[in-house]
Amino acid sequence: MTATKIAIIGAMECEIISVKQELIDLKEVVYADLYIFTGRIKDNFIILSKSGIGKVNAALNTQYIIDSFKPNIIINVGVAGGIDSCLDVGDIVIGTYLVQHDFDVSPLGYAKGYMCIGKEKDKPTKYYCDKNLVEKFQNLLEKSISKNKIHQGIIASGDQFISNKKIKEEINNYFGALAVEMEGCAIAQVATRNKIPFIVIRAISDLADGNLSKSHNEFEKYSNVSSQALKLFLNKMYN
Ligand code: SAH
Repeated sequence: MTATKIAIIGAMECEIISVKQELIDLKEVVYADLYIFTGRIKDNFIILSKSGIGKVNAALNTQYIIDSFKPNIIINVGVAGGIDSCLDVGDIVIGTYLVQHDFDVSPLGYAKGYMCIGKEKDKPTKYYCDKNLVEKFQNLLEKSISKNKIHQGIIASGDQFISNKKIKEEINNYFGALAVEMEGCAIAQVATRNKIPFIVIRAISDLADGNLSKSHNEFEKYSNVSSQALKLFLNKMYN
């Protein structure tokens, strides 16, 4: 197989650190407060980035990486809040498509989540993860993690940390989302505009229900769950 350029974006240091430790020929680029590391795993060129929290940081980061390195695929990795009752802390969600739960022009007669793009004004705008990558990730994960801990479904992004039972239920009911986080759909939107296949992999760090004292300290622990999944993918998929 020819070498692949893989961009990996995580919002926080704890979400990318263990992949950084695996990079051969590690180099660092700092641009507009973004921390981008390049290196190799096997024969593949890895662009690993700490984007910072939220959709603007994530979008800026993704476009910079695309312009500078022209990756073949983009992977967003990290933690998320579980909002569907099928999820438990420590589970993994592989995104099928992404929406922005806080994009709201509904006073003008559009559906909540419709991003003023496309003709379907009565539905939230959806950004689809690459089906082939979703399937490959699922198959690989099933070999090392119990199947009932791996879920595929909709991920909803917004510039809010969700920690309220009522809000979490609203997002779950309206968007049909399994998980909430703060970057995925921004990365998905930029990747789609640039016609680059992408995938979003999130480990559930909290249940978005206000039980913060515990979950806040658990980011690091659960970041490791998503990093392990990613490392498995990087080592097994492209060698
Ligand atoms: N670590 C930072 C803040 C983390 S914000 C600090 O402590 O200062 C939460 C991060 O985890 C975001 O990058 C988001 O994508 C993800 N996340 C985890 N649980 C979430 C939830 N319940 N709602 C929204 N984002 C969540």
